[in-house]
Amino acid sequence: MAVASEVSIEQKLKALFKLQIIDTKIDKLHALRGELPMEVSDLEDEIIGMETRLSNMSADIKKLEESISNNKIKIQEAKALGKKYEKQLESVKNNREYEALNKEIEMTGLEQQAADKRIKNANFDIEQKKKTVETLAAELEGRKLDLNSKKGELVTITAETEKEEASYMKQRDKAADVADQRLATSYDRIRKSVKNGIGVAVVVRDSCGGCFAGIPPQRQADIKQRKKIIVCENCGRVIVDTDLASEVQQEMN
Ligand SMILES: [Zn+2]
Repeated sequence: MAVASEVSIEQKLKALFKLQIIDTKIDKLHALRGELPMEVSDLEDEIIGMETRLSNMSADIKKLEESISNNKIKIQEAKALGKKYEKQLESVKNNREYEALNKEIEMTGLEQQAADKRIKNANFDIEQKKKTVETLAAELEGRKLDLNSKKGELVTITAETEKEEASYMKQRDKAADVADQRLATSYDRIRKSVKNGIGVAVVVRDSCGGCFAGIPPQRQADIKQRKKIIVCENCGRVIVDTDLASEVQQEMN
């Protein structure tokens, strides 16, 4: 750590603002990576949902196919029964028996018609479901490709940002040393407690760039002097002048 007396207030302020620039860059890296894991998990959920729908549909189709087989058997049975009755018709003894048998034959015919209709309906349903399955399967393939590319992207970005982040962290440590422990700690504390990620504020249009409270002219003049650490009376952030901010930015480029 640098000896405090060797470092001027101006240098400390500059180091503090440098910290801010580095942290903003790190925040951006996190944001970049931050959305991808969610996109990946959303896609994974969507794929599970689609796969469930597909397997339900396959089960439905199987049931319909089973019902077709059953109805085919029913038709065969009704046909056989009808033939049996027709045979019996040849040896009827009276009119009453004849009418009763004819009624039975008519019933077997109706049974066959009903089974036939059920088969047709089932075939129609199967056809519709197979079309849906085809569309859904194609969509699923698309989602799986999306997932693979997003996963790949995430792996790449994570690898890249980790390297970048590590180098930022080194720069950060150096800047924190120059800024001195007390200032750096209070900066960290403020940054953690606010949503906009600003721990050291620049004067923007006569106001604090962190909370937008106005800064009196005399205070602004003091800030420009860079002779002492000046904090915002409203939010407590250390304030630096715009020229200092752009000087630091130029130094870093
Ligand atoms: Zn403020």
